[in-house]
Amino acid sequence: MPLQIQERRPAERNVVKMPKKGIKKMFAVVSGKGGVGKSTVCALIACELQRRGYTVGILDADIGGASIAHLFGLKKEHLNGFFATSKNGIRILSFALLAKDQDRASIWRGPLITNALKQLYDRLDFGELDYLLIDSPPGTSDVPLTLYQYYPLDGIVVTTTPHDLVREVVARSIKMAQRLSVPILGIIENMSHLVCDNCKKKHFVFGNSKSAEVARDANVPLLAQLPLDPKLAELEDKGQVDTYESAEMKKAVDELIRSSSSQAAIE
Ligand code: ADP
Repeated sequence: MPLQIQERRPAERNVVKMPKKGIKKMFAVVSGKGGVGKSTVCALIACELQRRGYTVGILDADIGGASIAHLFGLKKEHLNGFFATSKNGIRILSFALLAKDQDRASIWRGPLITNALKQLYDRLDFGELDYLLIDSPPGTSDVPLTLYQYYPLDGIVVTTTPHDLVREVVARSIKMAQRLSVPILGIIENMSHLVCDNCKKKHFVFGNSKSAEVARDANVPLLAQLPLDPKLAELEDKGQVDTYESAEMKKAVDELIRSSSSQAAIE
């Protein structure tokens, strides 16, 4: 017999969104599950926007698995008040930098993380920003739900990988955003393929991609298909994500800027 679980409807009506705090555009980078490269995509979008002269911040809201500070080589000693600034000028607010014991947060229950998520935004004081990127907690539980409900998001970017399993997981993330009327700016497929160093042939190591299909079903653009690139992993391990550039990501950011500025102009 199938398991019957009572659906709990999100309390859409009574929620008051938190203030925008001088931020022109606020995008959350989300994923249906962990480990697909959501933090990587979030950091790469931020760096690409920053290269174009925008003022950019990142809020690492993936409290249980905060990794943004690590990707930029930032530690507690780099904090200036509540945030740290990366070498390329991106302002970063992360629980990993503020918490006494980040390891404890990875075993916190949902309600505690949900509270921390609200408090983190209360602490946010980046001043005027063109773009704030939010590294969202993965999944479709109460924690990302809180982000969608309380944060004044202008849209989300969904990160995925080509694995078959991820297809359903992504569809769930998209449905949650649609139910809460959060615009979906597009899908970025990460680890799409591996390019051979010698012959430059693309190898689809995780099988044929389903992302184009998922994007078509949801009526959202597939913004990019990023390769699995050992150089990117190495730079991230060294805290130098800001030095990585990719043509695919540039194209994705062109589209993001275009679609977000059609919502309201950024000077
Ligand atoms: P998530 O935020 O979804 O948990 P991360 O961005 O932290 O995922 O990435 C997980 C791991 O995979 C990290 O070690 C990261 O360096 C690596 N990684 C992510 N994307 C790529 C890629 N395109 N090529 C190589 N390594 C990658």
